[in-house]
Amino acid sequence: MSNNQDDREGRLKKKILDRFDDETSQEIKILKSRPDFRPELEYFVDLLAGGRDPATISARTGRPVVALMCLQAPLELFHVYGLQPFKIFGGTMVAQRLSAPQLPAIMCPMLRSALGELHLDLAGSKGQKFLAWVTPTTCDWVVKIQDMMEVCGITEKPPFHRLELPHLKDRTESQDRWLEEVYLLRGFLSQITGKKKIRRQDLARSMNIYQKSWHVFSNLIDLKRTGRVPEIWFMVISNSFFFDDAEKWTESVKKALPVFNKREKALPDIFLAGSPIFFPNLKMLHLLEEAGLNVVMDDLCSSERIFPGAVYFDDFSEHGLLKALAQRYHQGCLCPTFSDNDRRINNIIAPAHKDLYKGVVFHVLKGCHPFDLESLTLECRLKDMGLKFIKLETDYTSEDSQTLLTRLEAYRNTLAN
Ligand code: SF4
Repeated sequence: MSNNQDDREGRLKKKILDRFDDETSQEIKILKSRPDFRPELEYFVDLLAGGRDPATISARTGRPVVALMCLQAPLELFHVYGLQPFKIFGGTMVAQRLSAPQLPAIMCPMLRSALGELHLDLAGSKGQKFLAWVTPTTCDWVVKIQDMMEVCGITEKPPFHRLELPHLKDRTESQDRWLEEVYLLRGFLSQITGKKKIRRQDLARSMNIYQKSWHVFSNLIDLKRTGRVPEIWFMVISNSFFFDDAEKWTESVKKALPVFNKREKALPDIFLAGSPIFFPNLKMLHLLEEAGLNVVMDDLCSSERIFPGAVYFDDFSEHGLLKALAQRYHQGCLCPTFSDNDRRINNIIAPAHKDLYKGVVFHVLKGCHPFDLESLTLECRLKDMGLKFIKLETDYTSEDSQTLLTRLEAYRNTLAN
């Protein structure tokens, strides 16, 4: 690259970095000036405001950070090897400007933004990169992340480990294969940390730590089902999960639970399904509030789905613990990239759930094919049951906000009938 090109790129990065900071601080300002903001929520907002580069996360947690592309890799395994797993979500609208020219025009904007953030090299000045990357093979965009990093000129070349995710969950062969992948992940983590062996008791301890996080998160979900937790706050809490040590986050959620002691307004309750939403791009949640809709349930991988449920085991051998983890992260996961996916749709329309809401809002990011495809099946199933459904396709831009709001307001009026 010539000096001129270097200068041009340097200037562009600087401009985007400034806008990146503006975008983040604007959303922080909005959150902190809400009438329902409470001191107990400050911890979560500050985590999101504090940056998501590996140096910051590592300084906070005291652990080297491993980038994780999807949620199927057992977090407990990273923990027992002394690592901090950090799920990569991209949330800024402006960061994607750096990666967009090299990428397909229609692609997952969440990952385009994440690639832009990597290009910004937020960790550059602090000199610390992700120790490694772990990628379960879920959707096509995730499968190709390493190639996309290369075409975007992201020079980081850390060890990269893929977990081949069996897309059929209910077959015994798939479950056995996934257990093998969990063993291979264990081998990879052992290699990058130099820790030859882990003690069974230490793995059980890590499992217990995450079990407690799941438990307190379930308490928060129970409150949300009664309409007492605005989705914005729920998202801030769940989005911040990977930004700190699991135990500290769990204690902070415990302290925040009493904040949600009453339902503020009687608004129509909805189920929010579809593509993830991540800070600072909380556009869709602001629009839902503005339209007078209250989310009591969601199945977003950046929100309610960060935990796939509890881990059950009665075999305390190391193999028994790894098997329990493999089962939980494979069987419990409701990602739409699985082929035998009835459980995901049944989760939305289950009798115990469908009485909680009046309709489903389906959020699809342009280029997110798994959710786009799934919306077709879900819409038919819901309409057959007489339930109201709306699909909103959007991109990482604020230009469509007014159109989305108008559609949501019209939808809310149908729920009143
Ligand atoms: S499932 Fe959708 S949102 Fe998630 S990485 Fe793939 S395309 Fe992006």
